[in-house]
Amino acid sequence: MSDEVTNLRKELASLKGQLVAQRRELSRFRMLSSVFQSATQPIALVNANFQILTVNPAFSDLTKYSEDEAQYFPVNGLIAHHKRQELWPPVQTSLEQEGHWEGLLWNESKIGTVYRVQTHIQSLDTEDLNQAKYVFFFHDVTHQKETEEQLQHRSNYDLVTDLPNWNLFLNHFISALYVSGQEGTQTALLFIGLDGFKVINDTLGYTIGDKLLQEAAIRFEKTIPQNGTLARFSGDQFTAVLPNIKDEEDLAVIAHDILESLERPFEIEDEEIFISCSIGICTWPGDGDDVETLLRNADSAMHKAKDNGRNTFHFFTPDIDAKAQAQRAIEIDLRKAVKTFDEFHLVYQPIVDMNTGQMKSAEALIRWHSADRGLVSPDQFIPLAERNNLILPIGEWVLETACQEIMDWSQHAQSPFRVSINLSSRQFQEKNLPAIVQGVLDRTGFDPNQLTLEITETLMMEDLDAALKMLHELKTMGVRLSIDDFGTGYSSLNYLKSFPLDTLKVDRMFVRDVTTNPDDAAMVIAILTMAHSLGLEVVGEGVETLEQSHFLIEKGCLLGQGYYFSRPLRIEEFNQFAANREKLNSA
Ligand code: C2E
Ligand code: CA
Ligand code: CA
Repeated sequence: MSDEVTNLRKELASLKGQLVAQRRELSRFRMLSSVFQSATQPIALVNANFQILTVNPAFSDLTKYSEDEAQYFPVNGLIAHHKRQELWPPVQTSLEQEGHWEGLLWNESKIGTVYRVQTHIQSLDTEDLNQAKYVFFFHDVTHQKETEEQLQHRSNYDLVTDLPNWNLFLNHFISALYVSGQEGTQTALLFIGLDGFKVINDTLGYTIGDKLLQEAAIRFEKTIPQNGTLARFSGDQFTAVLPNIKDEEDLAVIAHDILESLERPFEIEDEEIFISCSIGICTWPGDGDDVETLLRNADSAMHKAKDNGRNTFHFFTPDIDAKAQAQRAIEIDLRKAVKTFDEFHLVYQPIVDMNTGQMKSAEALIRWHSADRGLVSPDQFIPLAERNNLILPIGEWVLETACQEIMDWSQHAQSPFRVSINLSSRQFQEKNLPAIVQGVLDRTGFDPNQLTLEITETLMMEDLDAALKMLHELKTMGVRLSIDDFGTGYSSLNYLKSFPLDTLKVDRMFVRDVTTNPDDAAMVIAILTMAHSLGLEVVGEGVETLEQSHFLIEKGCLLGQGYYFSRPLRIEEFNQFAANREKLNSA
């Protein structure tokens, strides 16, 4: 009996023990289950056949499959249909061989939304098919990826046109060169510049300017073959790379299409805008070995197209290269020369009263006597200096030197004497121009009333409001203003009326044939009539003959400048000239 009791007790104790263990197990399970249920991370338990056994609510939220629907669903069925073939096999292999996998999957929800999930899979220690063999943890990173991709997009695409930017373009360009190299074909680089975009931007505003760029980009895009890439290079310039080009004719056709795409006007915010473009084309391997050279050559070819009257295209040729190289060489010398100004001097060309022959003023003109090149014409180096901003120090030097020299000289003169100085429109873009002029006047003690600044019509084209403001500022300082080369630009009477001008210079192009060409004669008469009605003083430029001077006097233009009276003279010769005139006048 006691044995039985002892045995029963033992059994009872063991049962108790089991019960305690089971309870412990149960509470552990309950705890796990509640963690599983309430976890915000989607989790699925999967058997060795890769069928889902159970899922948590977060899983259902993400995949839109309920717990029931998910049961026995093949887990690879969660992967987006079009990605399944590619993505699943490596996952399965890794699980079977290593027991775990981690990576990014493209999944698709029950309602067809594709999302990206960072997935972590761990295998469990069990052989039973009905038991969980794998735990899948999912982490939806779609949003994060989108932001990353947007950032990526922004670093590769232009904000205004959404075309590839230079960064991405360069990648395409280099890979096109590589492929061409492999296949023994040519790759072309096109440089496309919109003609006169700056004027549109300045007169109609940036919003319209940006829209125009966007729409031009869309039109260009349609003309570029599938395997090519169009990009925004900068401002109003685009580049295109075209791989696998057979011959120049193919390129000419494409270039034609690009030009033609702009023929129809753009309609932007009720404005009808006409614009054209100029295209430079070069090819690899013929026109350069590296990206930088090709780019430079395509750019030179584009400038050639612009020089040829715009709205056209030009292939790069060795002579364009020679010209571009010569320009670069001049630029290097010019940079050196501007450091000391030793190689520069000014000449002065008298402006005379054509009736009396009396000298009224003189125009200061710069001369560059380069040690290596000899005399370089301002027509050659001034445009270059405008492009690379050397015109700013040069312009200031001219101003200061002319004021100083004329100051010194006029000490001997009997009456006050005016000097005219050319200002480049580039100088007008500098806000501190009035301050620079004032500085020179202060340093030299030159009377502002004796200083005339000659400006050209292009200045008004660029930024009308800013130019007007600047001109008024200069005018307030007492400086006189003259419009140079009149008739060659596009200025209308309206512009002219709003400018505080004193003098108008009739361009020598019209004066040249005034006695032989009735059109030029009519033009000069029209300009003079207009100038008089605005109360402007007029100077005829480039007067070379007595007949020209007579014509001008007769039509009411009393002041003249030209070889007929005098060539531009160095200050010493000028002194001599002035002295002779005075003698003549007093005689
Ligand atoms: P511009 O302002 O129209 O200057 C007049 C040009 O006509 C000068 O050429 C002068 O030598 C030339 N000329 C004068 N009389 C006659 C004539 O009877 N017949 C002919 N065929 N030509 C005549 P230059 O000195 O070679 O200057 C050319 C241009 O370079 C100037 O045209 C001006 O735009 C620019 N330039 C010259 N000096 C300066 C300067 O100091 N600053 C700036 N920004 N530009 C300058
Ligand atoms: Ca001038
Ligand atoms: Ca002129």
